[in-house]
Amino acid sequence: MGVRVYELAKELGCSSRELVQRLQERHILVKGHMSALDEETAEIIRHEFAAKKGKATKTKSHKEQKPPLKKISIAFPFNVRELAAKLKIGPADLIAKLAHMKVMAGLNEILEFETARCVGIEFGFDVEKELTDEDVLLAKHRGEDDKAGKEHRPPVVTLMGHVDHGKTSLLDVIRKSNITVKESGGITQHIGAYQVDTDRGKVVFLDTPGHEAFTSMRARGANITDIVIIVIAADDGVMPQTVEAINHAKDARVPIVVAINKIDLPGADIDKVNRQLAELELTPEDWGGKTITVKVSAKEKKGIDQLLEMILLEAELLELKANPKSPARGMVIESKLSKGSGPTATMLVQNGTLHIQDVLVCGKTYGKIRAMANDWGERIQDAGPSIPVEVYGLSEVPQVGDAFYVVADEKKAKELCAKKSEELRQKRLVPAQRMSLEQIFQKAKEGELKDLKLIIKTDVQGSLEALTTSLEQLNTKDIAVKIIHAQVGNVSESDVMLAVASNAVIIGFHVGVEAKVKEIAEQKQIDVRLYRIIYEVINDVRLSMEGLLEPTIKEIFIGKGKVLQMFNISGFGAIAGCVLIKGKFLRTADLVRLFRNEQRIYEGKFSSLKRYKDDVKEVGEGLECGIALDKFSNIESNDIIECYRIEKVARKL
Ligand code: GDP
Repeated sequence: MGVRVYELAKELGCSSRELVQRLQERHILVKGHMSALDEETAEIIRHEFAAKKGKATKTKSHKEQKPPLKKISIAFPFNVRELAAKLKIGPADLIAKLAHMKVMAGLNEILEFETARCVGIEFGFDVEKELTDEDVLLAKHRGEDDKAGKEHRPPVVTLMGHVDHGKTSLLDVIRKSNITVKESGGITQHIGAYQVDTDRGKVVFLDTPGHEAFTSMRARGANITDIVIIVIAADDGVMPQTVEAINHAKDARVPIVVAINKIDLPGADIDKVNRQLAELELTPEDWGGKTITVKVSAKEKKGIDQLLEMILLEAELLELKANPKSPARGMVIESKLSKGSGPTATMLVQNGTLHIQDVLVCGKTYGKIRAMANDWGERIQDAGPSIPVEVYGLSEVPQVGDAFYVVADEKKAKELCAKKSEELRQKRLVPAQRMSLEQIFQKAKEGELKDLKLIIKTDVQGSLEALTTSLEQLNTKDIAVKIIHAQVGNVSESDVMLAVASNAVIIGFHVGVEAKVKEIAEQKQIDVRLYRIIYEVINDVRLSMEGLLEPTIKEIFIGKGKVLQMFNISGFGAIAGCVLIKGKFLRTADLVRLFRNEQRIYEGKFSSLKRYKDDVKEVGEGLECGIALDKFSNIESNDIIECYRIEKVARKL
């Protein structure tokens, strides 16, 4: 039936005009105060008013009564008992308060830092993370970096673009263009990066092309690229992976230089590429925009000098600086166990200078540098800022993306590593805190989040545009929607990695997620939300931004079966004969899905579950059964049917 605007206004204690305005802000069109609202809309508005009211009274009473919070710090990770001791309260009181906040935790439970911060406030404390020895050391390093003595450092460049557009060929040609200036004529080594000398200075190229390496480094918190070269084949133009690469670079806020390759081909259409770039908000300089584009041919070795020149020009604008006199720190870009030399890692020095005999902590391992080699396989004694070097002497093989820094001696290194291993072990016990749509409001409110980053994948271009436009209008005063990548196609591993790197939520519209990708998303705790109705997407995002999103619905898998054949039971109708592949079918399962060729076709419930002709409550693994679905009869052989239990999980703190 619903409720009329004036009735609801009265109930909420506001004027009808105010309410109409509020509804219009939410794009709910009402004609006037006599318009009827459906119950769902009314409920949303009630919530909104209640939330606003609650907030107002909360801030008021907070101001009036509460004394300022007392600062304390605690070393992460910690359990309930340790936190209680810090807060100077009994563990039972803490457990009770946590339960009140819907966090069920025992004495030895390791808590998320955010939880501690929230519960701390309840007891009058402002809980901060205690700095680890490593934090202190790195802060000291940084402090030294800030001191005078900063000098220009070479830019670090990554090539990205669509497959076969010529990234590898370009990297090759660029590298070889440099051989003539090398006197030694040594054999180049693949160490993951190389440097090129030009008249105007050095450029360092990471030679694992593609955005996978770039994004997985970023996902680990390692942003080492200063400039991205987007390679586009002139005969092929902008392709899906080009768009992906551009968005990855944009999200990382790394400047882009475009190399239009294969200009030697008769089919080369530079105008088309320029036009496509303009559509992607990368209007070329030739067209009055700001994006530097260089026409090259890896095959005919044309335009390479100009490309290097443009990179250096862009680098000048960036004013890349580092202090070569500090102790070195940087990042591992490749690592291996080599037969003769033991653990070997290519490191990119980001600041300071690395010397032979330096002692390093690197990820979970450490060691004294026995020897170093450059990308020509030549032994070197030192490596300054931006320089890639192969390092020998670590006790174990570090991981790509591990940070390294120089410490005073091996004793200190060993001590730091032991602590770090323990920390990492403990951290694994705490779930990683990725963002879900449910947590957005809380984070925005706490000022931790200014943008809600979304990755949008749809089945067709039309809905991509419709969704992007509608979502971008949903900004509130606390938080803005930012679509970092939008593309037609299924949710891919690369989308998940981008979401990890940028803390984004993935929205899939009429698209699927391969099992492997789903697994990675779950592992990385990325919120991948699939929808079939535009309104629902907009609504969910809007509600989450306003803190009104319903509790998370968690689906618990119960069983999976395959349809063998369809048959008719007299007096009943069509029934699908299935075999249970995994788990069981429950007649009362909350949710049943039907998949055909990995596409989801149906969502609903069982309307019947039979063994032979008898109705049954459940059917176990390996058994055959007959099923019918509620309001759906178009079942075919080989369809896959899955059923789930639905649990509502309260919104996280
Ligand atoms: P990647 O997948 O982006 O690394 O592309 P590759 O460097 O492997 O190049 C793909 C194909 O394009 C290879 O067959 C190259 O020989 C060819 N190719 C690369 N650059 C050029 C170019 O400038 N002109 C022409 N005609 N072919 C090129």
